[in-house]
Amino acid sequence: MSRMLPELNPPERLLMGPGPSNVDPRILRAMATPVIGHLDPAFLGLMDETMGWLRQVYQTRNHHTVPISATGSAGIETMLVNLLEPGDDVVVGIIGYFGQRMADVAARTGANVRVIEAPLGESIPPERFEEELKRKPAKLVAMVHAETSTGAEQEVAAVAEIAHRYGALLAIDCVTSLGGMPVKIDEWDVDAAASCSQKCLGAPPGLSPVTFGPRAMEVVSGRKSRCQSWYLDLNLLFAYWGDGKANTRVFHHTGPITMIYAMREALRIVLEEGLEARFARHRKAHEAFVAGLEAMGLSLFTRGRRLPMLNVINIPEGIDDLTVRRRLLEENIEISGGFGPLAGRTWRVGLMGVNANPAPVMRLLSALETALVEQGYRCERGAAVAAARAVYKQ
Ligand SMILES: *Cc1c(COP(=O)(O)O)cnc(C)c1O
Repeated sequence: MSRMLPELNPPERLLMGPGPSNVDPRILRAMATPVIGHLDPAFLGLMDETMGWLRQVYQTRNHHTVPISATGSAGIETMLVNLLEPGDDVVVGIIGYFGQRMADVAARTGANVRVIEAPLGESIPPERFEEELKRKPAKLVAMVHAETSTGAEQEVAAVAEIAHRYGALLAIDCVTSLGGMPVKIDEWDVDAAASCSQKCLGAPPGLSPVTFGPRAMEVVSGRKSRCQSWYLDLNLLFAYWGDGKANTRVFHHTGPITMIYAMREALRIVLEEGLEARFARHRKAHEAFVAGLEAMGLSLFTRGRRLPMLNVINIPEGIDDLTVRRRLLEENIEISGGFGPLAGRTWRVGLMGVNANPAPVMRLLSALETALVEQGYRCERGAAVAAARAVYKQ
């Protein structure tokens, strides 16, 4: 007797929160291709290709550039557990929730964590890192490039220069920025970076691309203690992915084959579009969206350097956060609420990957306008979409 159980049937959402973003059908097709073994010669070739394309997207020549088999948070953890040992000093720049998380992960390594903070919605002036390192040296500076909780960008190149002048390495969380705005690992002289598959790269969640430069790898191979994490130990990981010298691949863990297919296809899409064109597309979507918001009388929360792919909107007086988000979900559109102190006060809208395009921007503006008007908000109907369309016509 065969049993009939309910089939999987998820709704078709427009994913305009902070990730996951909608997945390009090309990626879904790549994921439906046959699974092969993780030591199959055919797979080893795909791994090399994936590493090579990831280097291009990270704008780096770093050999040590791979997707970690877990979500973005694991990439952050990989950087910190490999670069820090108990008793090391690390300076963490915090401009929101994800900076706080980096400090938490760093503290668990037994390192001595010193933090520098900026008010929510702002970035840290690079001089503040210099003051802190002058006061006391550190082994590592860690910070978030694109802070998804506040929509602010933290300047990287200037901090990298300062960190190196004081003998520290720089590790960045570029989970939200990679694939949507410039992340120039070599030009900015960043020692380690970690991102994810499901934001601007547009693949499903499940992988965390990381890159480590020569100074970082020197620190890793010169450790006094063993890395606390077996799974994330770079020495073991690169015995499987290839250390760039010996042409041998040693089993470490089973590569998530299907997710690596997805990553490879996502990178292929990014490189075929071209990095500059892709960044310009994200910037244009942001400009059109913001013009629409302003035409509706709404404003952005973020002061300072605003991210194109993550827009934090002030919720107007008298409007209920959840009512609006529930209404949008009825239209199959997902946006996100604020984090921590910004909960109930802000919405977060992602314009990532395939959603950094006119149709998703217009659809969201129109649905948001309807949801607000239903709650008694006053604005000129149609003005938002008209304003966004005008930006696209320019
Ligand atoms: C989304 C995000 C993370 C967490 O990534 P996961 O893939 O959810 O583990 C970390 N840092 C930033 C800045 C993010 O936006």
